[in-house]
Amino acid sequence: MQNEKVLSFEELEKKCLACRKDFPMLQNKEKPLIYFDNAATSLKPFSVIEACTKYYTELGSNAHRSDFSISHQLEKEVKDCRKLTQAFLHAASEKEIIFTSGATAALNQIAYGFQDLLSEGDVVLTSRLEHASAILPWFEIAKQKKAKIEYIPLKNGHICLNRFEKLLHPKVKVLVLTHMSNTLAYLNPLEEICKIAHKHNVFVFVDAAQSVAHTRIDVQKLQVDALAFSCHKILGPTGLGVLYLPQKHHSFVKPFMLGGGSNARFFDHTEIWLKEAPEKFESGTQNLSAILGFKEALLYYEKHNLDDLHHYEEALLAYLKEKVKHFSHIEIYNADAQSGNLLFNCKGIFAQDAANYFAQHGIALRAGHHCAKLAGEVYQSPESLRVSLAFYNSKQEIDTFVQLLETITLEKCVELYL
Ligand code: PMP
Repeated sequence: MQNEKVLSFEELEKKCLACRKDFPMLQNKEKPLIYFDNAATSLKPFSVIEACTKYYTELGSNAHRSDFSISHQLEKEVKDCRKLTQAFLHAASEKEIIFTSGATAALNQIAYGFQDLLSEGDVVLTSRLEHASAILPWFEIAKQKKAKIEYIPLKNGHICLNRFEKLLHPKVKVLVLTHMSNTLAYLNPLEEICKIAHKHNVFVFVDAAQSVAHTRIDVQKLQVDALAFSCHKILGPTGLGVLYLPQKHHSFVKPFMLGGGSNARFFDHTEIWLKEAPEKFESGTQNLSAILGFKEALLYYEKHNLDDLHHYEEALLAYLKEKVKHFSHIEIYNADAQSGNLLFNCKGIFAQDAANYFAQHGIALRAGHHCAKLAGEVYQSPESLRVSLAFYNSKQEIDTFVQLLETITLEKCVELYL
């Protein structure tokens, strides 16, 4: 439900600070954790953890395959989670929601499933900001099909919409694009991009692994041809992901995996009759405990109003950026990103050394290339530091971080190794 009332920062802060008690990882009073690695994975609330446990303690059975009551209850839980996910993405049907083991599995399913769109000489258009999980499967398909990969030229990390259409020459068949990269964190104008791409019969496949944590996604509005994310980045358990696949593609997309659950019948002359989606794409036993947990994650967002949580997190990021923007010893790569993260380096300090320094002071942030090994070419640094926020972070945590950042030196960082 969209909230009618826009809350003030103070109201949002009060609300979000109250949420901190829901997260066990934030309860260690002796050694408090300042967790700024939310782009890698989010913390999980008690309710999610309890729901995962409930699977093992109360509903320990398999879905679809039994005739007893706990199995039926479990099946209902899976159905409920699918329905909530459908609503979360505003998908037209719950059949369009396919559970996978994570975004990586979903992105591989997309590439494998749509590979026949490509023939020799065709082109996969993408950007240099893509995560390995989004683009490497297409590298492999492109090699097999003798197709090519082309990159969208970026202006300061942004896609120029008015120049985008010119890139869609007749050989371009597929566009693989992040909704929000895990480095620069700019939100791509997907709705406009899809409109232009579809005008040229180009399929648009979207990696929403980051955006799902920062913005509402409406797949019907966006008109993407497929979209993937991992549940662990939005309060859910690890080992579960979602592939959104619109019904119009169900019949011709090949499942990446075959096995139990996805076939209706098979015959000794090797013929296989596959079930309809989502089962067609869900071979094998699902991560049932994670599905129970993810349902609670979605209910948590519903209860606390997703938009409020997003607004607060954006305000926190603005607060952080305001505090550090004049630090002359810091190089910021994404000053204009409105949500997600702050990507930067401390001049003259290797990112990993700086991250270790912060870690010694109880602050978890990320250093490196962030699995997007071409992205460094865009912001011209092979590695960087990333502070990624969530609604359970606080101004106080940011102040602690900023104090350390203000006085960081190479000597302080390398001292740790002496
Ligand atoms: N794409 C992006 C943009 C990501 O940030 C990640 C996670 N780092 C992935 C894909 C892959 O997600 P997972 O490791 O959960 O499969």
